[in-house]
Amino acid sequence: MWIRWPADFRYRHFDPRHAALAPKNTEKESQIVDNCIFCKIAAGKIPAKTVYEDDDVIAFHDIHPAAPVHVLIVPREHIPTLADANEKHTALLGRMMVLAPKLAAELGGGYRHTPEGPMGGFKTLVNSGPDGGQEVYHLHLHVMGGPRPWRSER
Ligand code: AMP
Ligand code: ZN
Repeated sequence: MWIRWPADFRYRHFDPRHAALAPKNTEKESQIVDNCIFCKIAAGKIPAKTVYEDDDVIAFHDIHPAAPVHVLIVPREHIPTLADANEKHTALLGRMMVLAPKLAAELGGGYRHTPEGPMGGFKTLVNSGPDGGQEVYHLHLHVMGGPRPWRSER
């Protein structure tokens, strides 16, 4: 016999870290997930050196830069890891990737085609989970660039 689950079963019974699955609330304040530092930065509750923001994403300097240019592009929505993203996030993730080279260039870490060959450049990185080296469980795209050597390889 089939058990009929309530339509919102997976929202109400999921691990709270998977708040990305919850219905989106338009109130900025209520999107803050407890103890999530990037939710708090996105809501302006904790200061950050912001370099870009719009309705969907915010970008700010990493507090411990690993390269001369090191910014984090962070969706305002609390998506814990890349593994929690789904089809509804496709455009958001695409926008984050398209934003990366623009911010890198604005901050002095851009890539250029030149007559002498490729110049400059940056790295984009998303760490996912413990084995992926993730420390902050709110999805973010690292953008690292500028002249080498960098402080550390990530
Ligand atoms: P990850 O290991 O991919 O989760 O990276 C988390 C990054 O967030 C690290 O590079 C930290 O230096 C950075 N970070 C942590 N707290 C802050 C903060 N308050 N402001 C800016 N960057 C931060
Ligand atoms: Zn968050």
